[in-house]
Amino acid sequence: MPVRDGDGFGTRAVHAGQSPDTETGAIMTPLFLTSTYVQDGVARPRQGHEYARVTNPTRSALEANLASLESGSHGVVFGSGLAAIEAVLKANLVAGDHVLCGDNLYGGSERLFRFWERYGLVFDYVDTSDIGALRDAICPETRMVYLETPTNPLMTLTDLAAGARVARDAGALLVVDNTFATPVLQRPLEMGADIVVHSTTKYLNGHSDVVGGACMVRSGELAEGLRYQQMATGGVPGPMDCWLVLRATKTLHLRMRAHCDNARIIAERLAAHPAVGRVLYPGLPDHPQRELAARQMSDFGGMITVDMETAERAEQLASGTRLFALAESLGGVESLISVPARMTHASLPAERKRAMGLTDGLVRLSVGVEDVADLVRDLEEALESVDRT
Ligand SMILES: *Cc1c(COP(=O)(O)O)cnc(C)c1O
Repeated sequence: MPVRDGDGFGTRAVHAGQSPDTETGAIMTPLFLTSTYVQDGVARPRQGHEYARVTNPTRSALEANLASLESGSHGVVFGSGLAAIEAVLKANLVAGDHVLCGDNLYGGSERLFRFWERYGLVFDYVDTSDIGALRDAICPETRMVYLETPTNPLMTLTDLAAGARVARDAGALLVVDNTFATPVLQRPLEMGADIVVHSTTKYLNGHSDVVGGACMVRSGELAEGLRYQQMATGGVPGPMDCWLVLRATKTLHLRMRAHCDNARIIAERLAAHPAVGRVLYPGLPDHPQRELAARQMSDFGGMITVDMETAERAEQLASGTRLFALAESLGGVESLISVPARMTHASLPAERKRAMGLTDGLVRLSVGVEDVADLVRDLEEALESVDRT
């Protein structure tokens, strides 16, 4: 592998985990479409490979690449973000254990946690942007702190270094879902987190053509537990999906720069627009945690939430755009628009939505890499048709 210690992010994005194929010289990692491997003798695998649920060379290249990008020692990939998150639970918790969660998680993560309550795991939700509240909510059974920053769709941040200290003092693992920020903007393992999880479906793949997930860690012991889950419960991604994500991470740093540059301009324009209520974006001067964002992130990301104040106005905006496509998901090169309360977060109980301020008027933008002038015009034209009374 041509990568050396000290190589920068872009160099590692292109090269980490990969080297030219020894047999043919192919510069790109081959797509190994095989379910099994011929052995040299009974129980004598040729190069460590026996069966493709256990190992696949395309998958291993992706895992090494993702580990490098998150400043981890190991990566373990899964067939979806939720499969990766579930593996983290199963690898590290037993019935009776307590998980303290941020109060504004991806809707599907909370739905997954509700399922695991049947098997004796206990989940509590707390506003982790308040480190004192996080510390106060720790109990003797707390084995894991699980959070997202910035959150989806409220754009609330948690101080990761402070959160890691609270978790460590409690003897709990800190797990951070870094899907929104990506390792280009924020690297939780460097700030003391134990496990980073991703929906690679989003920015890491970035082309809206794969569903996948990943866990990255710095500890061999944590990696072993996740690797065992991958092998024993089988939620593995197919080689084609691994190959696509591996191709996509080569441009992650370039795409993120474009997402951030476009989002900053759009956030400013929307904040000044008379038809728009609050604009939630960590890069805006009025974001209550802008200073923390500037400290722990290298830029402010490609996601913006706007408060249109009523469900009707939110729907008018979300269904009035031409380039921003009305769809769930995020992080692709194309711009998307959605109404979280009725789409991605529809499965959340109404009282939880109310408690966290996830109202029907919120509209979420995943800003793509199109020409920003076209995106601004698209939003301004859609806003013209929004009822202002
Ligand atoms: C999409 C998403 C997930 C779930 O990932 P899937 O790949 O859809 O299973 C988890 N966390 C965040 C922040 C997400 O955006």
